Amino acid sequence: MNQADSAIMAALLVEDGYVPAESEGEAGIILLNTCAVRENAVERIEHYLQHLLGMKRKQKDLILGVAGCIPQYQREEMFSMSPAIDFLAGPDTYRSLPLLISQARSGKRAASLEFNPAETYAGIDPRRQGLITAFVPVMRGCNNMCAYCVVPFTRGRERSHTMSSVLDEVRKVAASGYREITLLGQNVNSYSAPDRDMDFAGLLEAVSRQAPELRIRFTTSHPKDISESLVRTIARRPNICNHIHLPVQSGSSRVLGLMNRGHTIEQYREKIALIRSVIPDVSLSTDLIAGFCGEDEADHQLTLKLLSDIRFDAAYMFFYSTRPGTLAARTLEDDVPEAVKKRRLQEIIDLQNDISGQLLQQSIGSVVEVLAESESRRSAAQLMGRTDTNRAVVFDRKGYQPGDLVSVLITSATSATMTGTPTDSPRC
Ligand code: SF4
Repeated sequence: MNQADSAIMAALLVEDGYVPAESEGEAGIILLNTCAVRENAVERIEHYLQHLLGMKRKQKDLILGVAGCIPQYQREEMFSMSPAIDFLAGPDTYRSLPLLISQARSGKRAASLEFNPAETYAGIDPRRQGLITAFVPVMRGCNNMCAYCVVPFTRGRERSHTMSSVLDEVRKVAASGYREITLLGQNVNSYSAPDRDMDFAGLLEAVSRQAPELRIRFTTSHPKDISESLVRTIARRPNICNHIHLPVQSGSSRVLGLMNRGHTIEQYREKIALIRSVIPDVSLSTDLIAGFCGEDEADHQLTLKLLSDIRFDAAYMFFYSTRPGTLAARTLEDDVPEAVKKRRLQEIIDLQNDISGQLLQQSIGSVVEVLAESESRRSAAQLMGRTDTNRAVVFDRKGYQPGDLVSVLITSATSATMTGTPTDSPRC
């Protein structure tokens, strides 16, 4: 979502006459787009602001703005994080960036942090980076109140883009040569078109028909809201990728209750059973939090059991850290010692890496279709891409270019990546 927001901010600034700089050292304005979801992200911004303060001391007219979720979360207190900051903009106020910059030029520290429940940035043509995958937001904000999460406080109430604006955007993206679209929202399953009677399953189907040559992905889904009609749409439409990211956070219904997730682990398992019965070759990934408030050893064992039973293809795994102002910070005690959180997280990571590795090993000898995204980090003689099930594959280049769809014979695998060689040469 932040990448999509950065593309909107870049478009607004270019429209106002600014030109993207080649490097940080050449820039007259530096705008940091920030994430407040984890403590670690906030610490990284604090360190980066130290570095920028050094730059500002040498380049007196450098303007520095901080945008996105951290200023929305910390509000004007954010100014005390660093004297280098000239202005603050929240996720709903990017249209005021030109005004904030001109106030900063006149020496005034300014902040624009109002929520605007109507703001979807409709009508702005984002300046995206890269030419393979385009992020297309379909909704912003979240009406859930998961106890650990800052999103309702940083991005405000849910609002959906009109279906016609999403389809216009998809048309433009397809005409620009992109090969893949990822529809974005904090909880895409809550999508409800303001301009017609249409839910997310209907939107996804319409997008896949609008751009039949492109791969279509979406993120993120909430387990309580993912519908059977959505699952059947994924199964029916060939260009919708067979991958669902379905955050579970914990394997214990008791902890899910403390987290205010709105479903039990039995209901989650039922959703997974439905998905697998309708899309047998689906790939599933999830998010997990170790050591949430009140989690005991028995809860942790239930999480490990869930991983063993479901055998997710991949997971994003973290240990819990309190985010001030959230429901958990106000009502629950952060009572799991840090050493225990870290040990539980490590057990989760070890088990999940084992499972991911075993699943990838099973692909050795198969031929998969890969959308090439970039040169591999290790060698220009190899490309990196993804299968429609979102598995990363590194393969010998053999004349292929990023953007090509390549049939790749898998010859080896680790817990995160498959390696292979194309079965063909590119057609001229
Ligand atoms: S669904 Fe829960 S975790 Fe996801 S953004 Fe909303 S409040 Fe946060």
